[in-house]
Amino acid sequence: MSDLDDGLAERLRDVDGRIADAARAAGRDPAELTRIVVTKFHPATLVRVLHSLGVRDVGENRHQEAAAKSDELADLDLSWHFVGQLQSNKARAVRRYAAAVHSVDRASLVKSLALPDGPADAPPLDVFLELNLTDDPGRGGVAEADAESLAESVLADPTLALRGVMAVAPLDAEPRAAFAQVRAVSDRIRRLAPDATAISAGMSADFADAILEGATHLRIGTAITGKRPTAG
Ligand SMILES: *Cc1c(COP(=O)(O)O)cnc(C)c1O
Repeated sequence: MSDLDDGLAERLRDVDGRIADAARAAGRDPAELTRIVVTKFHPATLVRVLHSLGVRDVGENRHQEAAAKSDELADLDLSWHFVGQLQSNKARAVRRYAAAVHSVDRASLVKSLALPDGPADAPPLDVFLELNLTDDPGRGGVAEADAESLAESVLADPTLALRGVMAVAPLDAEPRAAFAQVRAVSDRIRRLAPDATAISAGMSADFADAILEGATHLRIGTAITGKRPTAG
């Protein structure tokens, strides 16, 4: 057993148990939830141990780090979810390893993620629209009022597949109320795009609330991985 395991299997089992409990409390089937383990700042070796424990969906928030890890772990059947703020000039590179980008928040990024030669190049990339639930335009995410027009620009590109919406609950908000707001935007988007049924919401501290409000994709880091090593 690797020393990296160090409680990992137990924390994973514990979190999965809590996910299943929250799903049942919400009258939902736990099997319809995708648990993404956010592995940012942790080494590829830890991701390999997670894979051996059955994890297949992992999340990263920095391109450089995600590219290096996905490269090192190319022998494993992992789906990489990009969840961090993304500069347009790195979009094409992220597409090379990512199965999904959860942080699409502006039309210029949609354009950069698109493949110029059309869908023949590759399968469509799964896209989530990141919502900014605060009044601070400096935070990542599209303002709620602009979410529908951003959805239209994703729908117009055949190399992108609009899966749904994503959000981080603001620190000063009650998470359940924040996730209810996300669900309301999701309902609006679904009127335009009936297949965009996914809601990427819920982190270590608030995933149970997110499940109660319809989250389908949970992005869970520290509750599973333990404390992150400091950056850099
Ligand atoms: C780091 C991160 C997470 C996971 O956060 P934890 O609190 O460690 O569970 C989820 N979503 C995004 C966008 C993140 O950057």
